[in-house]
Amino acid sequence: MADCVFCSIVQGKIPARKVYEDTMFLAFLDIAPSNPGHILVIPKEHHETLLDLPEAICSKILEVVKKVASAATKATSAEGFNVMVNNQAVAGQLVFHSHFHIIPRYKRDGLKHWGRKDIPGQEMESIHKKIVSFI
Ligand code: 5GP
Ligand code: ZN
Repeated sequence: MADCVFCSIVQGKIPARKVYEDTMFLAFLDIAPSNPGHILVIPKEHHETLLDLPEAICSKILEVVKKVASAATKATSAEGFNVMVNNQAVAGQLVFHSHFHIIPRYKRDGLKHWGRKDIPGQEMESIHKKIVSFI
């Protein structure tokens, strides 16, 4: 897609530090990493969010995420890692070509974890029912 930075990387118009490539997927170092070894795994096809990924891509991308996360963990001697997908601007998505972040983690690495909210029982029950009704 025109004006998509990740499509430009796929097409070789923008350089990237590639760590893995096959016919469907590409993985490369994030240009502004949260920790050394922060990698992005993308489908070569342009799709905006996780919900837009066709089944064939969706079912295979986690295999690539796993392969790359294993290599990144070994290479960085990380004690763990996060896999994260931001969907839509409100969730922090900046590049609208769906991608998985792999972020190596260490004790006291200074990165923040999710905040927690105290949701009343009634609201938990109502949202539980509502989600199940949409499945
Ligand atoms: P998002 O917030 O959309 O989930 O994450 C987009 C990520 O893409 C950011 O972490 C950002 O640093 C990374 N990024 C943006 N432009 C480029 C680029 O040109 N090259 C690389 N390697 N990463 C990029
Ligand atoms: Zn794209």
